[in-house]
Amino acid sequence: MGSSKDSKYNHLIEKQYDQLMDYCEVAMDRMEEELPEPRVELSEALKDYGVSRRNFIKWSSVMTTALMLPMAFRPMVARAAENFSRLPVIWLHLAECTGCSEAFLRSSYPNVDDILLETISLEYHETLMVAAGYQAEENLHEAMDTFDGKYICVIEGAIPTGMDGKYLTLGPKGKTGLEVAKEVTSRAAANISIGSCSSFGNIQAAAPNPTNAKGITDAIGVKTLNIPGCPPNGVNFTGTLLYYLLFNNLPPTDSLGRPLWAYGMKIHDNCERRAHYDAGKYVEEWGDKGAINGWCLYKMGCKGPYTYANCSKVRFNDRMSWPVMAGHGCMGCTEPDFWDTMAPLEKPIADKPLPGIGIESNVDKVGLIATGIAAAGIAAHAGATVLKNRSSDEAKKGKANK
Ligand code: SF4
Repeated sequence: MGSSKDSKYNHLIEKQYDQLMDYCEVAMDRMEEELPEPRVELSEALKDYGVSRRNFIKWSSVMTTALMLPMAFRPMVARAAENFSRLPVIWLHLAECTGCSEAFLRSSYPNVDDILLETISLEYHETLMVAAGYQAEENLHEAMDTFDGKYICVIEGAIPTGMDGKYLTLGPKGKTGLEVAKEVTSRAAANISIGSCSSFGNIQAAAPNPTNAKGITDAIGVKTLNIPGCPPNGVNFTGTLLYYLLFNNLPPTDSLGRPLWAYGMKIHDNCERRAHYDAGKYVEEWGDKGAINGWCLYKMGCKGPYTYANCSKVRFNDRMSWPVMAGHGCMGCTEPDFWDTMAPLEKPIADKPLPGIGIESNVDKVGLIATGIAAAGIAAHAGATVLKNRSSDEAKKGKANK
């Protein structure tokens, strides 16, 4: 039998989840009132791609767990997915390789995440749209005016800030990336940096950084939610938008602006080679016995112990594989300045550990930190409820009075 302390604690958690559920319902009702009509019926889109209702329900259960929500939220997650095509998105391309967009577009067997990304109301995306020059510029302004204060601004790419931003000019009027980013982010409901370039500067900002490239927040002082990765996993973008549709708010983040639900744990903590790491069984050379038997890649330069991301859990290409599974170590691409701090790519950096992180001596500590972060994620949901409780109550009253 559990102690009375346990039952008090469980009661408190249940109460917080009830409050969160109430808040979620009010937030979704409000969102549905404000968003434009659906562009695509999700059930039709799923049918077109051959995804059964059963698979969609399975997917919504997985996403509910991934977002650190209790299973009672599954129907709400499914409802949020149905609203995906109502979310206006303006997608900017700055200094980058378009690899993030490519990664989202290239799946050969689309799963529910891919289908959702296809249904998004993309009002402006330079790589995908047909318009160019003045017409593209017009489209951008039309989208900003039509959805003023309601669109999500997604930015792919860093901003070169040297020479007043003149290393990157865009469009027929030769505006700098700095100008365009400031203009579009200032009228958005929320700003998301997709990929490591817009999150932290990435390779454009690697030493010696001749253009003084920076991530969006550092370059223009606008706080963005960061979904780093080179490229990031589409699931992390889909999940973040789902969260937004559920709570009319972006998810809680770590100190680097990364959503805790996706970046709250180290790659190393969920790696399928972790048992070999703990047992001291390492690949010492490409093609050796360890490589054939799937041992740990730490000595071949894997940066999983330093890197916060969920790649080992969600994988890529319809959850088929990820770099460590394919036989190459993690290169730490979700961390700021990884080109400078995680190099050399195929050797360990144990001789110069990152601040506060040892490796062999700190495996348990890493576990404790990860547990702490997961708890922080739940606490942040609950905290958001408490903070928003008043407005939720007010909104409910307002609804009741209608
Ligand atoms: S060091 Fe890399 S390969 Fe080894 S267990 Fe950690 S993440 Fe996996």
